[in-house]
Amino acid sequence: MTRRTSSKFTNWAGNQTCIPDHIKQPRTTEDVVQIVTDAAQRNSRVKAVGSGHSFTDTACTDGTMIDLGSLDALHHHDVASRQVTVGAGIRLTALNDRLDDLGLALANLGDIAVQTLAGATATATHGTGTKLGNLSTMITGFELVTGTGDVIWCDREENSEIFTVGRVGIGALGVITKIRLQSVPAFTLRAEERITPRGPIMEDWQGFIDSAAHAELFFIPGARSCLTKRNNPTDEPPAPPSRLQYLVDKELTENLAVDVAMRLTRRFPSQRNRIAKTFMGAASDRDVVDRSDRVFASPRRVRFTEMEYGLPIDAVPEAVERVNAFATSLDNPPLFPVEVRCSAADDIALSTAYGRDSGWIAVHQYKGMPNGDYFRGVEAIMADYEGRPHWGKLHFQSHHQLRRLYPEWDRFAAVRRQVDPNGLFRNAYLDRVLGPITA
Ligand SMILES: Cc1cc2nc3c(=O)[nH]c(=O)nc-3n(C[C@H](O)[C@H](O)[C@H](O)COP(=O)(O)OP(=O)(O)OC[C@H]3O[C@@H](n4cnc5c(N)ncnc54)[C@H](O)[C@@H]3O)c2cc1C
Repeated sequence: MTRRTSSKFTNWAGNQTCIPDHIKQPRTTEDVVQIVTDAAQRNSRVKAVGSGHSFTDTACTDGTMIDLGSLDALHHHDVASRQVTVGAGIRLTALNDRLDDLGLALANLGDIAVQTLAGATATATHGTGTKLGNLSTMITGFELVTGTGDVIWCDREENSEIFTVGRVGIGALGVITKIRLQSVPAFTLRAEERITPRGPIMEDWQGFIDSAAHAELFFIPGARSCLTKRNNPTDEPPAPPSRLQYLVDKELTENLAVDVAMRLTRRFPSQRNRIAKTFMGAASDRDVVDRSDRVFASPRRVRFTEMEYGLPIDAVPEAVERVNAFATSLDNPPLFPVEVRCSAADDIALSTAYGRDSGWIAVHQYKGMPNGDYFRGVEAIMADYEGRPHWGKLHFQSHHQLRRLYPEWDRFAAVRRQVDPNGLFRNAYLDRVLGPITA
């Protein structure tokens, strides 16, 4: 176990920093128990950190930060059930490679795969697809180090209440050290990306999301057209783009060109509409057939801040039009695209998709540009649809409002009291969004 003291933590977006009194990198569950016990004796607090890809201060602490990057082993895999047990600190990219070696894959992923498994599932990270839940729904068991230093295994049979709610724990229930996951046979995806008018797509929203296993769209506020992405499993053999094509598509178009457009808008806000037109004009239709995880996730080198809300799936067309109208009414309308996705309902108490099929509306702002008016205005629109904010993305809500949005809030609170009675895993974010640990 290596130890560093007084290092600064900064998240990927660069909008959250903290100075933990210790940063520790355990190699085993026993190391984690030792760290938790030591911190409790010192009256300090403990916070597990993943890859720092949350936009909120959810991973921040002035106590002991635990980086579980070394807990990334493949512990077990069961051929018949396709379940795998891995170290909770494994990055999704590494997990995807390990699964592929076994002829397996995750059924769905978000836009990136550099998060850790524990970090991604703690905030209910999701991809898109009407029939698919978020990543937390793939968990079938996990090992937890609690606030009293106990190591417990949780699944549907053992510690079932902790398992049921703990799959989306926002780091509040303890340190997850191992996760067992349900995977699926490895598959290939055909991605079809099209530039198309937004109006007809939103008028037939249900038809659009039913038109592919994974459908999503992006639009620049004020633009009539949008970029649709439809990913479907295929029997075709993977035909990954050449290195040059990959550089052009992923690095030049999706990253460098976006960065240049955003910088220009930040420098010359009055030219925003001309830049948007040029930007959209440069986008083109594209088809790709590749290994599923390589189609789902892409490198994201342009830094930004983001807010994302989950809302009832039928509310999406109206909410999208309101977000578009609001964004374009701002003095400096954002150029960064709005992303619209969907996912299936689940039964996890604090999952943003608890009990309802969900549509997702994500708004972004380029790094260094103010997002307050934009994000607050969008949040007010989302409130009209009982929108639930993504736990890892910016929002301005506290437990006073949030508890009304989650029917099983008290069930989560009871488990939290049980496994962290002394508030060892509290931080400022949890104090805001979950409130105190009360009897
Ligand atoms: C560029 C970018 C793209 C993104 N795309 C998507 C997307 O497509 N879909 C989506 O839903 N989200 C997306 N996100 C959000 C991201 O998936 C979440 O914020 C996720 O939680 C980040 O994982 P992480 O490993 O970086 O965890 P961190 O941000 O480091 O931590 C997140 C939470 O997990 C807790 N945690 C971490 N490890 C443990 C552990 N071992 N035990 C207990 N708690 C733990 C932390 O305490 C914290 O509360 C994106 C973010 C970025 C920056």
